[in-house]
Amino acid sequence: MNAKVSKLINEQINKEFYSAYLYLDFANYYDSVGLDGFANWYHIQAQEERDHAMLFYTYLQNNGEAVSFEAIDKPEWTRGDNTTPLRQALEHEKYVTSLINDIYAAAFEVHDFRTMQVLDWFVKEQGEEEKNASDMITKMELFGGDSKGLYMLNSELKARVYSAPSLVL
Ligand code: MG
Repeated sequence: MNAKVSKLINEQINKEFYSAYLYLDFANYYDSVGLDGFANWYHIQAQEERDHAMLFYTYLQNNGEAVSFEAIDKPEWTRGDNTTPLRQALEHEKYVTSLINDIYAAAFEVHDFRTMQVLDWFVKEQGEEEKNASDMITKMELFGGDSKGLYMLNSELKARVYSAPSLVL
C-alpha cells in the first residue's frame, strides 16, 4: 500500500476513536441533565465510531500494513444549552467527511482502487451521519422548546437501538 494512504488510514483510526470519545462525552452530558434518550442516541453514536475505527484497523491488518495507536485527545467542546452538542456533532461530522475525502483523494492519486472501494462505504456513511446530525437540530428547534415536546423527543431517541455496520471486510 502507498505510504501516504497507509499513514492517513492509521490517523483515521485515531480520529474515529476520538469521535467515539466526543460522543461519549455528549452522552455523559445528557445523562447528567436527565435526558436519557439523547444520552442513548450518543451512546450508540459512540459505538458506531468505535466500529469505524475497527473497520480501518481490520483493513490495514488484512493488507499487511502496520497499525500504530496514538494517544486519543481529550474531548473538547464548549458547554451551552441542550442543543449545543447537536450543533457540535454536525460540525464534527462535516470535519470527518473532509478527512474521509482526503484519504479518498490520496488513494485516487495512486490508483489504489481497493482502498477507494472500502472508502465508498464511508463516503455514503458520512452523508447519512451529516443528515442525521442535521435532522436532530431541526427536531430540537421544532419540538424541544417546551417541556412536553422535549419529553416526546427524548422518548423517541430512547428507542434507538444499535445495529452493526453493514460493511464487512
Ligand atoms: Mg465515523
